This record gives sequence, C-alpha cells and structure tokens, in this order.
Amino acid sequence: MRLTTLGTGTVALTPGRACAGHLVEAGDVRLLLDCGSGVARRLAELALPWPAITHVALTHFHVDHHGDLPTLLFAWRYGILPPRSAPLAIVGPAGTADLLGRLAAAYGTWILEPGFPVTVTEIAPGEPLPLGGGVSLDALKVPHTAESVAYSVTAGARRLVYTGDTGFDPALGAWAGGSDVLLCECSLPEAMAIPEHLTPEQCGALAELARPGRLVLTHLYPPAEDVNLSAAVAARYSGPLTVARDGWQTDI
Ligand SMILES: [Zn+2]
Ligand SMILES: [Zn+2]
Repeated sequence: MRLTTLGTGTVALTPGRACAGHLVEAGDVRLLLDCGSGVARRLAELALPWPAITHVALTHFHVDHHGDLPTLLFAWRYGILPPRSAPLAIVGPAGTADLLGRLAAAYGTWILEPGFPVTVTEIAPGEPLPLGGGVSLDALKVPHTAESVAYSVTAGARRLVYTGDTGFDPALGAWAGGSDVLLCECSLPEAMAIPEHLTPEQCGALAELARPGRLVLTHLYPPAEDVNLSAAVAARYSGPLTVARDGWQTDI
C-alpha cells in the first residue's frame, strides 16, 4: 500500500499546501481520500495515475474536502482521450447521495452520469466495505460535523487510518490502535484550540493511545506551522513522526 499526501492544507489558502486529499494505491485499488480544492492539480503535478482512480471517499461535506470532485468528474469525461469508461465508486458518510444530488442540481446531471458508471455508497461505521483486491475501508464517527467520519484502509496485514477533520476523541485513538500509519489532522496550535479540530498536543495524545507505526500530520492551518510541532507532539508520543507536505509519499 502506498500513500501520497496530495493536499496537506486547509481552506486557509497557502502556496505550499492544497486543501485536503490523499491517494492510496494498493493493488488495483486507487483510492482518493477527500478531494479538496487543488488536489486535482496536485495529481497532475505529481504525475500520479489520476485517470485510473477507482474510488473517492469523502470524510465530510466541508468544501475543502470535496471542492475538486466536480473537477475530477469533468476531467474524466472531457479531459482524457478516450474518455473514461471504467466505473467509479464514490463513498462517504450518510448524506453523501444527497450532496451528490445537490451538486448535480447545480452543475448538471453529468455529475452522476458522466459517461461511465458511478456508484454512491454511504458507508456504515463498523461495517467494512470491500473495495476489491483484498482492500477494505471502514469508518468511525468522529466529532467535527454531524456526518464526519475517519477512515481505516486495510490491505492484507497493512493498515492506514486517516482521521479526516476531528476533535479529540479517545475512541478514535483506540480505533486506530495497531495502524501502520496514522494520518492525523493537526489544525491549530494549543493557543487557538477549538473542539472541532486537533492541536499537536492532542495529536500526540491520540498517537499515545494508538501507538501507530508512524504518525503523519496533515491539515495544517498556518498558525500550526509557527509552533514546534515535534516538541508539542513529543510530550505524549515519542514514536516516528512526519509533518506531511504536498507530494510526500510512503510505502506502508
Ligand atoms: Zn478541513
Ligand atoms: Zn471540516
């Protein structure tokens, strides 16, 4: 399983960090976790196989996590020759079908009928969804918006957990236990803490519970870059740590 962090930023737009999006490649599965603004551009910049993405999984409905989904659907229809014919699976929490319906009302029916088969699946937390090739996706409800979920991607013995956007919840730390990589939002420094997002200290506390093979921080607002992230995390967690950047890649 290979992870590429495509968008490690937020809606606080900065040159170096696109909105949220990460590509997971495992066998024939190419799974895009979130698809915020700038992610489609990053896929092209990094020469990643964007025409062959098989699944898009949304963690929640904030636009910094799905703003480029219409762009990708349009690109698959008009941006490649021959146009895409392979099916695409869109996965998300309860309400995803309604979101896609509203996007179709705004942009046109091609959102759901772009010339290739599109399925929309609302994942039920705790019921792993097979993606094919022995890869499965599971979700956990997390405290951010009413619909927000974290994802776990399992391929063979390997496991990636992506928090999406979340506040601190010990249940998330327990659920992420044993993961090889914990891709964890790290929005704001302690001085700006809010219940809907994590501070680096809380990322450390989550990792202390989960004990992942590696903690990878993403979804950084600019003020989070002004503090010593490693030192803040290290108060609770001393394992391997990466502050992701757009285009960072690791084999899991
Ligand atoms: Zn976000
Ligand atoms: Zn959000």
